[in-house]
Amino acid sequence: MHSRTHRRLAGAALLALASGAHAAPLLGFDSAGARDERALEARFDAALSPGAIRERLQRMAAEANQVGSPHDKANAEFTLEQFRAWGWEAHMEVFSVLYPTPREELLELVGPDPFKATLTEPPLDATSARTQGALPAYVAYGGEGDVTAPLIYVNYGMPADYEALQRLGLSVKGKIVIVRYGAGWRGLKPKLAHEHGAVGCIIYSDPADDGYGQNEAYPKGPSRPERGIQRGSVLDMPVQSGDPLTPNLGDTPGAPSLTREQSKTLLHIPTLPISWGDARRFLAALDGPVAPKAWRGALPITYRVGGAGARAHLVVQSNWDQKPLYDVIATLPGKSSPNQWVIRGNHRDGWVYGAQDPLSGQTALMEEAKALGALAKTGWRPARTIVYASWDGEEPGLLGSTAWAEAHGKELKAKAVLYINSDTNDRGFLGVEASYSTRRLVDQVGAEVRDPETGASVRDRAVAALRVRALAPDAGEEIKARAKQAAGGELPVGDMGSGSDYTPFVQHLGIASIDLGYGGEGQSGGVYHSAYDTFEHFERFGDPGFVYGVALARTSGRLVMRAADADILPLRFGNVADTIAGEVDELKKLVAATRERAVATDRLVEAKAFALAADPTQSWGPPDRLGPVPAVDFAPLDAAVARLGASARAYDAAAEAPRPGGTDAANQIVQGVEQAMTDPRGLPGRPWYRHLIYAPGLLTGYGAKTLPGVREAIESRRWAEAAEYIARTAAALGAVSAKLDAATKALAG
Ligand SMILES: [Zn+2]
Repeated sequence: MHSRTHRRLAGAALLALASGAHAAPLLGFDSAGARDERALEARFDAALSPGAIRERLQRMAAEANQVGSPHDKANAEFTLEQFRAWGWEAHMEVFSVLYPTPREELLELVGPDPFKATLTEPPLDATSARTQGALPAYVAYGGEGDVTAPLIYVNYGMPADYEALQRLGLSVKGKIVIVRYGAGWRGLKPKLAHEHGAVGCIIYSDPADDGYGQNEAYPKGPSRPERGIQRGSVLDMPVQSGDPLTPNLGDTPGAPSLTREQSKTLLHIPTLPISWGDARRFLAALDGPVAPKAWRGALPITYRVGGAGARAHLVVQSNWDQKPLYDVIATLPGKSSPNQWVIRGNHRDGWVYGAQDPLSGQTALMEEAKALGALAKTGWRPARTIVYASWDGEEPGLLGSTAWAEAHGKELKAKAVLYINSDTNDRGFLGVEASYSTRRLVDQVGAEVRDPETGASVRDRAVAALRVRALAPDAGEEIKARAKQAAGGELPVGDMGSGSDYTPFVQHLGIASIDLGYGGEGQSGGVYHSAYDTFEHFERFGDPGFVYGVALARTSGRLVMRAADADILPLRFGNVADTIAGEVDELKKLVAATRERAVATDRLVEAKAFALAADPTQSWGPPDRLGPVPAVDFAPLDAAVARLGASARAYDAAAEAPRPGGTDAANQIVQGVEQAMTDPRGLPGRPWYRHLIYAPGLLTGYGAKTLPGVREAIESRRWAEAAEYIARTAAALGAVSAKLDAATKALAG
């Protein structure tokens, strides 16, 4: 990309701008308070050390540390002991969860040229040679079984791929599907395969996506090697995260646990992840039509769809044991508002050694805790209580964070003002997904933290990178939308879907949340969830010098300290109103597009019926008619958004010039504003997800859907449900406006 010199020059110019920003006001502080806060942050920065992060990461990633392993427990004990040594009040909370591990795995090609998949990852560095305690590669919470059936290739196994398959006149019914990783969340692949009638699912990593199609393979380069396997969870997390047998633990204490048959989040067909080295033999054996162009990967074979000649034998059996989770919780009690909590978390469990995922984030979080502890030892106390959490069991299903958030749900709803999450961290650009009310806070912090390599502010780097990406010919709609958001120089912030521990806090409890991390220039993708996500790989390709670990600590440390110390909570609501207004417009366009598509489909059905009558030897495969699209009444949402705009602007203005003595009452109210965006009845078919503004998509997995109740109803043409969720969302926005009006009154007197 750009040359280093060019970057450094740009960096110096931006640095001059950034230093001017230090005289700028700080969200929620008066000018004297801002000066003290920045002095505190300078002392915080001075206590951060890349060498300490390196040493900690090497220790914690030395052995396999998945849920239930001895090293996971040892890491929990080490974390607890460190927090205490740094001056925190810390304890361990233990939960028992269902955690399946492999008992038997077999995959073979049956027929004239039999082949048995190796299913193993040979050692490629010193860490991956220490296999003691590591589990065979598998996906957690898939089904079990022993099946022999024809094999069929379905590309990424996403809804569009099944539509393409239907156009080819093929079906996966009674077959074993082989799908490649990418394009959508892992768990959707076996789920959709099962819904389409498949009896087994094999997921492989194509070299086009994260192997030699991207870069030289490990250990020569960073990319996924021939035998590298991506493990992962297939728990149906878009329905609910957490232990599949004790859902809603916090809402119904003492409720009897479910049986596996009763669980709504366990999947049904046997599923195995494999390497491209194994997959190649299976794909090469397929017959039938040549795969559509977009389906072909980077293996030196002719990609075919199959479905007839080649047969596979797949066996998956698991041990369905209960395992302990060790959440480590540490507290620095607040001086003046101890009942308002700022919470910061990262998970600690990996799939194997977990150097990048999750220990890159976990070790940075610990560095923050060390620095905050050092400040506390010199007499500083935060105004609000700071809670640091090292979660267990994130990988199988956000188990540790969900258990803790549910068990303490009532208290959290009353006290938590902000949850700040990180997970993996790499060299590169600051990436943030966050509640809309936190955007100004995040932007201010991003403007003041400097990139360790270029010296530019991490905000300016993120803005610049996004603008360039949005101009690429293949730029997606989401990138373009975010670039538009960044057009004024504001840090681009994504919407909250799922994929890490913030989900129970924001989606279930309605606590304003931020998820952040650096990435984009590090090269950890090729070892994601494999035995090669090791200290050796991370030091070479993830974050050489561990400087982005320090950048993460600086960034999230500032978010924590500013939220903990600001006189007025640093949440602002103009962005909330503007963003939701834009989303309502999008939904109106979606209805119009849906109507156009229905009309076009009707025409196509008629044309094909005509063609079939003229030439009955062709199989034209007409699509199903979509049905009429009624008028959708957005008036309740339009009115609610207009009122929210006025209430939000009034609050934001009042927060700039508060009446002395009004701030406590206002903070009390603002603490609960995000909760007003939730509905206790939840989203259609998944009541655990209560947030009406953002949710993971039921059919995208990690990706966010905004105004999800309304949007997913329109997408699936459930028109009565769309009207119902327009009313519910409007009511929630009304409650948000009422709270903001009350807070404004408190501030203005
Ligand atoms: Zn992770």
